[in-house]
Amino acid sequence: MTPLLLATGNAGKVRELQPVLAAHGFAVVGQTELGISSIAETGSTFVENALLKARHAASQGGMATLAEDSGLCVPYLQGAPGLYSARYAGPEASAATNNAKLLTMLAGARGAARAAYYVTCMVFLESAADPSPLVAQGFWRGIIGEHSAGGGGFGYDPLFWPAGGLRSAAQWSLEEKNACSHRALALRRLLELLAERQAPPPQPLSLND
Ligand code: IMP
Repeated sequence: MTPLLLATGNAGKVRELQPVLAAHGFAVVGQTELGISSIAETGSTFVENALLKARHAASQGGMATLAEDSGLCVPYLQGAPGLYSARYAGPEASAATNNAKLLTMLAGARGAARAAYYVTCMVFLESAADPSPLVAQGFWRGIIGEHSAGGGGFGYDPLFWPAGGLRSAAQWSLEEKNACSHRALALRRLLELLAERQAPPPQPLSLND
């Protein structure tokens, strides 16, 4: 098994990713277990923040590192809540206050103006000095409803109706969500990139072929 540091202080994310990554030969360790603190997410994009988190943890932990950054984007609101999804309603925001603010910001918006997408960006660094990070993004498209529904999921899920669906994401089972969410897609793509990077080099073509 190859040791892999997960640049997150969120134990739930470590638990969620551990079995999937173990199946691909990685022994996952969360950054809290190594006493690594979080850093300020000062980037202007999800990829910049994921890279900042990955580089910080890799330099402290001295091993290959995976980081991710996620959020909800509403094009009608110029991409908000975006990078600020967790604290949209202010520094002490909760999921309930964030959702209430989103409903207020979209009051009067109808149809396509309520389109939204979740995005996850995952970054893998072989080491802090890795000059070619692997970067994978996953998107999950939907519509922001006019009222919340469902008790599952977290964050904006009660307001997010996956495209073509009749239920909010908070009414989906974890298994359903894990099959097509932004996070699942980003992870699937990252695992493909890792396999590509680890694959034996192609045989050079002989000039006589
Ligand atoms: P994180 O980077 O995964 O911690 O996500 C930042 C914020 O984006 C969360 O606090 C949520 O508000 C929102 N978010 C990201 N993914 C999801 C999701 O799958 N469901 C609901 N909210 C999400």
